[in-house]
Amino acid sequence: MSRVRVNLSERSYDIEIGAGMLARSGEFVASRSRVSHAVCIADANVVSPYAESVEESLRSAGARVARLTIQPGERCKSVAEAERLWNAMLAAGADRKSVVIAVGGGVVGDLAGFVAATYARGLAFVQVPTTLLAQVDSSVGGKVGVNLPGAKNMVGAFWQPLGVLIDTATLATLPDREYRAGLGEVVKYGVILDAEFFAWLESHVAEINRRDAAALEHIITRCCRLKADVVEADERETIGLRAVLNYGHTFCHAIEAVTGYGEYLHGEAVAIGMMCAARLAASLGRIDQSLVVRQRELLAALRLPLETPSVDDDALLAAMQHDKKVEHGRLRFILPTRLGHVELVGDVAPELARAALRS
Ligand code: ADP
Ligand code: ZN
Repeated sequence: MSRVRVNLSERSYDIEIGAGMLARSGEFVASRSRVSHAVCIADANVVSPYAESVEESLRSAGARVARLTIQPGERCKSVAEAERLWNAMLAAGADRKSVVIAVGGGVVGDLAGFVAATYARGLAFVQVPTTLLAQVDSSVGGKVGVNLPGAKNMVGAFWQPLGVLIDTATLATLPDREYRAGLGEVVKYGVILDAEFFAWLESHVAEINRRDAAALEHIITRCCRLKADVVEADERETIGLRAVLNYGHTFCHAIEAVTGYGEYLHGEAVAIGMMCAARLAASLGRIDQSLVVRQRELLAALRLPLETPSVDDDALLAAMQHDKKVEHGRLRFILPTRLGHVELVGDVAPELARAALRS
């Protein structure tokens, strides 16, 4: 088992990572909070067996447990669904001492975290992420929220969990595409922050592709540590440091928006977006071609998509100019200067961004 400590003064917490951790949920929560009543909010696809084993462990630790199930998919990250959960929690007798346990992928973590942050002015909350994407990225850092019909993650909060419990064994049932999409964010951590980790990924492709338990524990632990370092330095994204996590994401968000969310999984669009960003960095003379090639080869070995879909480039450019990260219409990108290091580059000419869309 590995542990990553996220140091945020009185909001500090641990992430515990290993195979078979679900059976330790009760102990994990009880050692951090009095847990007389727990509300387990679970994705319908992972109720059996994952949410069930979390609940069983919580009951053995003496908790009364209620379960609320949500239907899989991003559409559940809505104000209407949050309202349904608030009411269901009231009906289940949740009060200020109840603990919310989120079991599922990023959708459940964001939604259940938002409900925990708001119900009775804020409840303790534990994340039990079951997708690779959530285990390496979205469950760390305290961003919770729901979508508005026209804007993703527009309503939310920073609400740090009491702890994050990651059972690598849950990845055994994750569909292949979802698994690979998570690897997109994993590669991102290597490029932005850790050249040695990137090289480790290059030399362990076979283990990664067969979901080897030790490789998974290593990857998740390293990504959580890297993300925790960034979050510790810039918890609420006020000094811009947290922006390094957006490598590839300006292109990614444009691709997701123009293809209508659903064509690509987020991590797949991240892989394509990182290829665009790497080409842009090369065209600006910030990196040489060999880094573009190395990134391409690793993403290809992990069987991620690399090519920007054949959609209208003007539409992609327009979507980029609407990105939250854009100030006064000037395009800004997080770009590498070498493997393991990125910088915010402002005022990029739109023609260069357009040229970087395709190789
Ligand atoms: P993400 O974590 O990538 O944001 P979601 O929360 O939307 O994604 O989960 C992606 C899909 O994977 C959903 O259909 C969800 O029900 C399913 N899922 C989550 N965890 C597992 C798992 N461990 N095994 C099988 N399917 C899972
Ligand atoms: Zn992302």
